[in-house]
Amino acid sequence: MNPVRNPEELADKVLGAIKAVAGLDSAMLHEPTFQGNEWKYLKECLDSTFVSSVGKFVDQFEVELASYTGAKYAVAMVNGSAALHMALLLAGVVRDDEVLIPALTFVATANAVTYCGAIPHFVDSEKQTFGIDIDKLSAYLQANTLQEGGNCINRVTRRVIRAIAPMHVFGHPSNLEGLLKISKDYNIALVEDAAESLGSQYCGRHTGTFGIVGALSFNGNKTITTGGGGALLTNSLELARLAKHLSTTAKIPHQWEYSHDCVAFNYRMPNLNAALGCAQLEILPKLIEAKRKLALEYRNSFSGIEGVSFKLEPENCRSNYWLQTIILDSKHANTRDRILEKTNQSGFMTRPVWNLLHKFKQFANSPKMDLSGAIDLEKTLINIPSSAHLGMGN
Ligand SMILES: *Cc1c(COP(=O)(O)O)cnc(C)c1O
Repeated sequence: MNPVRNPEELADKVLGAIKAVAGLDSAMLHEPTFQGNEWKYLKECLDSTFVSSVGKFVDQFEVELASYTGAKYAVAMVNGSAALHMALLLAGVVRDDEVLIPALTFVATANAVTYCGAIPHFVDSEKQTFGIDIDKLSAYLQANTLQEGGNCINRVTRRVIRAIAPMHVFGHPSNLEGLLKISKDYNIALVEDAAESLGSQYCGRHTGTFGIVGALSFNGNKTITTGGGGALLTNSLELARLAKHLSTTAKIPHQWEYSHDCVAFNYRMPNLNAALGCAQLEILPKLIEAKRKLALEYRNSFSGIEGVSFKLEPENCRSNYWLQTIILDSKHANTRDRILEKTNQSGFMTRPVWNLLHKFKQFANSPKMDLSGAIDLEKTLINIPSSAHLGMGN
């Protein structure tokens, strides 16, 4: 490999590697693919007049989603943020609790914690998975928490650390074995933010099915879309029933009477969105195959460039490669912005990773551990065009 002499040369090489794979004049970061029964099911749904929160597509979508993921139950929600909120409530998160979440995640994870009246407690991430750094977190919890009445207490704030919500970044599964161990050792409920990892497996098991509850998203930029939408995965019949009840205004079923047994939510996915979802689920295996093929093409295209590596799935994992990612060697971190500028100006959409959440003013008072791993990742990760159609020969 030839050494890279200056930032401009590296930016040119990255753009060239993307272009060679995309084979187009421009490419978005992530576009949906509608190649199946989308129009057919949407028409059927409109013709039925059942477009809102009741209808056969919602039921069908839930059954098929459960079957695809191997979860016993799936409950469709209006979006991924609502699914995450519901998941945390089901895990027992209440006002003034703390919830451990990575600083390196989309803001929705922290928002959902805040909707419960709880406080996000930011933890560090590592390079292999982009997920929570288990060894570092274990040492941190050992030093900074104590057990009281079956609860994990933060020694500094005296608040209960009720749950941990890992996120499977860009579709790469976090270290779930390590997370399960922490959950058990410290009495902290595991809730997975699997919004980005539909179709991703850890040791042969689908992400989102390891914790008490998992949350998925079907936003327009995710692997499959329902326009807007989300779902909750769980193996507990009791929690699945509760999720349906709380997401339909806690209405007690009755032929005509309006009775509600608690303050609840209108979080159910409309039938119209579920119709789109049913069609998208049918083509999901094909989409994932295309995204995995795209990843191999990118790997080859970037393999000759010094200073950049392409992110491959972690060991024992099968990733959906939702967003394809390159990592700059730390000595090239100062070239990141030039690469972003050059690729975007040339019509190839690239993005930096999210700003770390502890920097936002709304989370300024949240507890956090040393975040040096996440800070390094923030400086060196770039997402490149990732649509499934790029892996289908366009
Ligand atoms: C997309 C996403 C969500 C939630 O998505 P919605 O847009 O509300 O459907 C939550 N967490 C992460 C990490 C996400 O990427």
